[in-house]
Amino acid sequence: MNSASIRDRYTFFRTQLPPEVKLIVVTKTHPAETLQELYSFGHRSFGENKVQELISKQEVLPADIQWHLIGHLQTNKVKQIAGFIHLIESVDSEKLLQEIDRQAEKNDRKINVLLQVRIASEDTKFGLEISEAKELFQKWTQGHFPNVEICGLMGMATFTDNQSVIRREFSTLKQLFDQLSVRHPLQTLSMGMSSDYRLAIECGSNSVRVGSAICGDRDYSN
Ligand SMILES: *Cc1c(COP(=O)(O)O)cnc(C)c1O
Repeated sequence: MNSASIRDRYTFFRTQLPPEVKLIVVTKTHPAETLQELYSFGHRSFGENKVQELISKQEVLPADIQWHLIGHLQTNKVKQIAGFIHLIESVDSEKLLQEIDRQAEKNDRKINVLLQVRIASEDTKFGLEISEAKELFQKWTQGHFPNVEICGLMGMATFTDNQSVIRREFSTLKQLFDQLSVRHPLQTLSMGMSSDYRLAIECGSNSVRVGSAICGDRDYSN
């Protein structure tokens, strides 16, 4: 995709999205130049799904970028991002939360996270069951994992054209978000990607992760 159309697409999203909805541009597989270009339009929030790729971009790009990790995170890799990560959106186990807490303490900072909840019917997707998310959240409100801040929830809907299935899944996550917010106010409900961000926003999302609709198709060959 040439740069004129990246700018057009980015501008389209900026003007289309309600002001209260945060836009995370998902730049996985795209070169650092693409991020630099979006940065030059004023964009600061980027999502990557692999630690190695995120770090190699972070090293060469401006320091005021807010990096979101949106993919499955292995516990042994937490330390590589603990010093600078803005938000880990993909916490899918207690073991991982524990390690993030440990590394946050070592780095003398709090690390912001989202609990990733499995709302899709496909069993290929990572994420906590609703009951597990409730348990983890309760533990945190009781004082466990003091060096992490659970800011909200993230979820991915089933990959389908069936809008009612997607709507049902997003609504389930919104319901959990509201339920947990009663105990401790949550800020971020991250749901919606290129194909379903409109529906996600209708269902209460306030943070969308948009990749291909802005950056173009991904090339996984290299
Ligand atoms: C790749 C990815 C996205 C963006 O997907 P697009 O369809 O390109 O918008 C969003 N969220 C997660 C977790 C992803 O891995």
